[in-house]
Amino acid sequence: MTLTPVLTARWGEKDSFTRRVYERNGGYKALRQALQRTPESIVEAVKDSGLRGRGGAGFPTGMKWSFVPKDIPKPTYLVVNADESEPGTCKDIPLMMADPHVLVEGVIISAYAIGAHTAFIYVRGEVLHVIRRLQAAVAEAYEAGYLGTNILGSGYDLELVVHAGAGAYICGEETALLDSLEGRRGQPRLKPPFPAVAGLYASPTVINNVETIASVPSIVSNGSGWFRSMGSEKSPGFGIFSLSGHVTNPGQYEAPLGITLNELLDMAGGIRAGHRLKFWTPGGSSTPMLTEEHADLPLDFESMAGAGTMLGTRALQIFDDTTCVVRATLRWVEFYKHESCGKCTPCREGFWWQVQILDRLEKGQGTEADLDKLLDLSDNIGGRSFCALADGGIAPVTSSIQHFRDEYIAHFEHGGCPFDPAASALFT
Ligand code: NAD
Repeated sequence: MTLTPVLTARWGEKDSFTRRVYERNGGYKALRQALQRTPESIVEAVKDSGLRGRGGAGFPTGMKWSFVPKDIPKPTYLVVNADESEPGTCKDIPLMMADPHVLVEGVIISAYAIGAHTAFIYVRGEVLHVIRRLQAAVAEAYEAGYLGTNILGSGYDLELVVHAGAGAYICGEETALLDSLEGRRGQPRLKPPFPAVAGLYASPTVINNVETIASVPSIVSNGSGWFRSMGSEKSPGFGIFSLSGHVTNPGQYEAPLGITLNELLDMAGGIRAGHRLKFWTPGGSSTPMLTEEHADLPLDFESMAGAGTMLGTRALQIFDDTTCVVRATLRWVEFYKHESCGKCTPCREGFWWQVQILDRLEKGQGTEADLDKLLDLSDNIGGRSFCALADGGIAPVTSSIQHFRDEYIAHFEHGGCPFDPAASALFT
């Protein structure tokens, strides 16, 4: 019984991205097994495994697949969301660079399961090296008869297209991604209908994250019991945890869900020498930040929700005691302001105002009333837009005020940032 690492197991191997090395390690055997089975049994296996979406939201994958309507006169599509761009999130790009064939194999099995004959991998436009690597892997898969017509003599046909976006964060939002794929400006659509029912060209479309689809071949080969032997009952399996920031050895650490930040820090050599953990994000900046007191909580969907945050993309951005939380929050909100697509007024206008306020607070020119204004604005941004960008963008604001109100006050009481060497040595 192989346990973690699963997804990262081949990353260190020379030429790991080639079909030859992937096949030498047992690659494409799961596809052969899957094609011997009925599509329904694959959907059932994924449902039984409890696999939840690895793009951040954690929606049950098998359930999403089972929403695809049967017997309607429209094609079904599979779209892989490879538009990774949440601040701190950097797991899908290394996965696609090191092991693109596990994604291609996952796409073929998943498309077979949901009855799709056309699949897309939508990659963000800036990462040309990833696009080229995927295109090479897809070409190799066609050569071997894993893609195209009558795959491995099974009678099943699938075309797989690698599509490059143009580098907009909003196009990672699944319905904006669909608009972009259709050739339009990427902006979110109102849900419902959810894409599984009416997505690409108004046809049933399953959209899954790279890591989700890359987990499918191992579930087909090893079974749902094997998958469930890792993680917790409601958050089973494994995931890639991306540690960045003030940590001795930043990088990708694969582990069962439910591992704690302190356990991951042990693997990563701890917080950089001479410093203490101050705050961290469990899954990118759109998941409310946590502090040292949360470092022993299991990193799973339920425990993170219990702590008032989300597991998200497992992008653990680590900040030590040298970091100004107001400055970090300002930088994040500048990102959301810049990336707001402008469709919904609360998001478009709200983040603009929050940047103005945070900027003056960071310079020590604000007042306590500004904190109430930030929270009031957050109330009027979150839940009032078509997509989750608005909810995500307010997370650094509300959580930093919740945990570090004193530090905001220190800025305006002392007329400057206490972390600025030129200002008073307030925290020494
Ligand atoms: P969501 O909870 O609205 O939906 C999650 C998925 O489940 C979607 O595919 C949706 O179509 C499906 N779904 C939900 N309810 C459904 C229903 N009743 N019927 C059918 N399908 C249903 O979340 P979201 O807006 O898609 O994503 C938000 C998450 O994205 C955030 O939690 C954040 O962590 C993450 N995120 C990730 C990145 C990245 O780079 N990977 C970037 C930004 C945000």
